[in-house]
Amino acid sequence: MYDVVIVGGGIAGASVAFFLKKAGLSVAVIDETSFSLQASLAAGAFINPVMGKPSAFKSFADDAFRFSVDFYAKNFPELFNKSGCLIYPKNEKTKEEYEALGEFIPSKYTFLDTYPLGAFLVHDSGIINPKALIDSMLAGVDRYNYSVSELLFDGGVWGVSGVKGKNIVLAQGAKEPVINEKYLTTQITKLWGQKCKIKTAAILQHNISSKVHIAQVDGGLAIGATHIRSETAIPINRADSLTLVEDAKEAIDIGDYEVFEEVGGMRSASIDHFPIAGFIYDSKSTIEMFPSLVHGARLSGKEPINYENLYIHTGHGSRAFILAPYTAKLLSENIISKTKIPKSIDPARLLFRFFRKKQGQS
Ligand SMILES: Cc1cc2nc3c(=O)[nH]c(=O)nc-3n(C[C@H](O)[C@H](O)[C@H](O)COP(=O)(O)OP(=O)(O)OC[C@H]3O[C@@H](n4cnc5c(N)ncnc54)[C@H](O)[C@@H]3O)c2cc1C
Repeated sequence: MYDVVIVGGGIAGASVAFFLKKAGLSVAVIDETSFSLQASLAAGAFINPVMGKPSAFKSFADDAFRFSVDFYAKNFPELFNKSGCLIYPKNEKTKEEYEALGEFIPSKYTFLDTYPLGAFLVHDSGIINPKALIDSMLAGVDRYNYSVSELLFDGGVWGVSGVKGKNIVLAQGAKEPVINEKYLTTQITKLWGQKCKIKTAAILQHNISSKVHIAQVDGGLAIGATHIRSETAIPINRADSLTLVEDAKEAIDIGDYEVFEEVGGMRSASIDHFPIAGFIYDSKSTIEMFPSLVHGARLSGKEPINYENLYIHTGHGSRAFILAPYTAKLLSENIISKTKIPKSIDPARLLFRFFRKKQGQS
């Protein structure tokens, strides 16, 4: 029996596995795609800060950015190309307005007075190789390749298609969690993305983040990604790649080019943009214990009822390679030492919102 069984071997599952294994726990990861074809492998895996004025999400993402830059540099230096990123404004601003955002960047940077609105060269930014990263994070972890359709709980032990664990973490990305809880399925949103690679003579000194992300890769440039709200995967298509190239042309002179690779994946996001990490709560038992919740009441000083030793780690949106190592560290400490999960990422917020919304509808 394992201490922890993780369903899903993308960046969310792999980063939790990494911290738990490092702490000495026995860990297994189950993935239906033989650890390929997930959203994580489609990612450009840019490590860039959130640009903008302070907000609750930015402050969380800034902490995650600092954490992940250090984490990758210490643990996977050979996979992290900290080449810096030139960040251009994505929409109309005055140059002064844009330059003023510098004081909120969680990294050393240089403001370049380039035409027309300037750009920040963010020194700590970089790009990571997603496949090699996930493989390295999962080194020494037992991997199983099949689809999990149900979870069984018997005598304090979880069974996942024959693999037994004391604790379970669901890290299924945009797939419906294998536990039927509507407050999760209705509030984990889906965002399709396509990325392409082109052969071109253009050479970049630094990665670029403008309307799209652009990076130098073997054979040319990688350009990503589209952001399309869709419940189902969208067939990889040339038109979306050409739109990406057109957007990239606004930032660099590409010249002649040829598309040589196109990939896509479904990101999981949350309704409030924060990741989702912590206990999975049992909505039925919670409402039986606290019936006033259906009338919009709040729990003061009390916790909703959780399934025993069952956790979720998902909803990292377009920034999983920045956010997931940070939330995985928080979740692994919560599993091992019962340290508190910040309210902003605790699935409880989704449970309460779900009850409030139901109340508003009745
Ligand atoms: C084109 C594109 C570009 C992107 N660029 C960036 C970027 O530059 N920077 C960044 O930080 N993020 C980027 N992202 C976002 C990032 O890739 C995703 O948010 C992230 O990969 C999600 O990771 P995950 O582990 O939650 O999900 P996934 O990678 O989808 O992994 C979930 C895994 O769970 C498995 N699974 C699900 N259900 C079951 C089941 N029942 N049984 C067994 N296995 C199951 C799936 O097979 C899958 O392998 C990009 C995404 C896309 C699509």
